[in-house]
Amino acid sequence: MSIIRKTAADFRVAPNFADYERERAAFSWRAALQEVAGAGGRVNLAELAVDRHAGSGLRDKPAFRFLERGCAPRDLSYGELSRLTNRFANVLAGLGVKRGDRVFVIAGRIPELYVAVLGALKNGSIVSPLFSAFGPEPIATRMNLGGGSVLVTTDLLYERKVAKARERMPTLKHVLLVAEDGGTTDLPDTLDLATLMAAASEQCETAPTGPEDMALLHFTSGTTGTPKGAIHVHGAVATHWATGKYALDLHPEDIFWCTADPGWVTGTSYGIIAPLLHGVTSVVDREEFDAERWYAILQDEGVTVWYTAPTAVRMLMKAGAEIPAKYRFPELRFIASVGEPLNPEAVRWGKEVLGLPIHDNWWQTETGGIMIANTPAFDIKPGSMGRPLPGIDAAIAKRNEDGSLTLIDTPDVEGELALRAGWPSMFRGYLNNEERYRKCFAGPNNEWYLTGDLAKRDADGYYWFVGRADDVIKSAGHLIGPFEVESALMEHPAVAEAGVIGKPDPVVGETVKAFVSLKQGYTDSEALRMELLGHARKRLGAAVAPKEIAVLPSLPRTRSGKIMRRLLKARELGLPEGDLSTLEGGA
Ligand code: ATP
Ligand code: MG
Repeated sequence: MSIIRKTAADFRVAPNFADYERERAAFSWRAALQEVAGAGGRVNLAELAVDRHAGSGLRDKPAFRFLERGCAPRDLSYGELSRLTNRFANVLAGLGVKRGDRVFVIAGRIPELYVAVLGALKNGSIVSPLFSAFGPEPIATRMNLGGGSVLVTTDLLYERKVAKARERMPTLKHVLLVAEDGGTTDLPDTLDLATLMAAASEQCETAPTGPEDMALLHFTSGTTGTPKGAIHVHGAVATHWATGKYALDLHPEDIFWCTADPGWVTGTSYGIIAPLLHGVTSVVDREEFDAERWYAILQDEGVTVWYTAPTAVRMLMKAGAEIPAKYRFPELRFIASVGEPLNPEAVRWGKEVLGLPIHDNWWQTETGGIMIANTPAFDIKPGSMGRPLPGIDAAIAKRNEDGSLTLIDTPDVEGELALRAGWPSMFRGYLNNEERYRKCFAGPNNEWYLTGDLAKRDADGYYWFVGRADDVIKSAGHLIGPFEVESALMEHPAVAEAGVIGKPDPVVGETVKAFVSLKQGYTDSEALRMELLGHARKRLGAAVAPKEIAVLPSLPRTRSGKIMRRLLKARELGLPEGDLSTLEGGA
């Protein structure tokens, strides 16, 4: 495996993070919070993200640039965003919506979503943005779990997904609608948002929330089971700010594009809050993935920092090399990715096609922000998710049967990835599931948060993802991480994506079965499948390589883009498919 070395020539702009050890030693969360929020103890995510800049030289700078097919780009400045979010906070207050009340937002990536999320935070309400592709059932389940009293959505989404299910949402009091045609709406039992906004004042006293006040509810992706609701607080701002600085290298002059939808934690922490905290301009595209369109956005908007996901990278790889050859990305200077392990092949592809390596980073809904990352401060080992950021202590741990925890210091030994509890964006609970929350913590004083992911740390302190604790395959006494097998398959030129499962076997415990989809220009055949099995055996050895392989048109994915191995397995074994609310293309 070849290391991608960093040299001064790799940086057109002096990076925020250059000396790993020194920055970690000097860092404290208290100082970070003070730098972004001051010393008074008052911490409101939206005030810090928006109003801090609206009152400064950034007032007329675009905070967001909204793109939509067939429409001219629409810029929203920090000043306008401040005024609109004030109006929205006043709309809520006028309806009697209070601090701590739950506001759900279901809209595509339209300006009103961003205004509603930030305005609700200003009102001290707790916000939960949901993915607009959810059907009525997943919406009702989440709304009830979160006790939503306000819903902001569009007239079309309301009619399709909420109206009929409304009597099953007993906590829901107010529905505020955005007319998708830009006019007003008058559907029964709803309010027209544009009318309320026009009548609301532009002045507002932001709720004087503190760092421990609840701010956001995010549901997990449902990759391993029923999605869980994670509670986050306003103090998370320190993590959003610090990770924007260290892991995304945000500088004020950047044009930043986070491709995640705010229905997932990435689309809120890094699609809304972190870039605003750094005073940058964010590009927001309303459309779904389209290789040609995405390359055009990188080029035409002059994106400088791009935060995307392995699934998108794999789809770009699948679409072939001809499309990017038509575009130029001279402004692009830093690329990062999150959500799934990033195969070494994809890291190298970035360097070849976009001229830059892709920096993988690791975190989860529960952590609220990036924890372990490849950063400008050190070389990339393709396939590794990097090193813990300043303020984050990570460990490889093993839970013992008596409930105690052993930390594994020896390099290259697999165990559960653990983080020392107490970073500001750590979740403060799972909705209605206190017991499950408690079980995530172990060690003396419960000081370690256990992530449910298996990983290894090498002698240089780099972390390597092995697999979800639930996905690891036990075969003839070996523990096989699906990621290793999938990465080996991805090295074959025909393979676009790979998902690997364990199949029960009376002799060896489990055997490895791989599912792949193919790149443009390749078709399924017995010969190709034999070739892929041979390739994997050569790379991995017979004990680890798959015994069986199947070719699918595409692999089942969550709406946040993660391969659903549990569904591949359930289908293979004829077992119940479980919660499919987050399955892409599902209801
Ligand atoms: P659920 O908890 O409902 O099963 P989920 O864990 O996929 O869903 P998220 O919180 O959206 O929900 O995803 C976090 C998980 O995604 C991590 O725990 C990890 O398994 C995986 N992940 C995220 N980033 C990376 C990465 N860079 N490398 C490997 N895995 C990653
Ligand atoms: Mg999870």
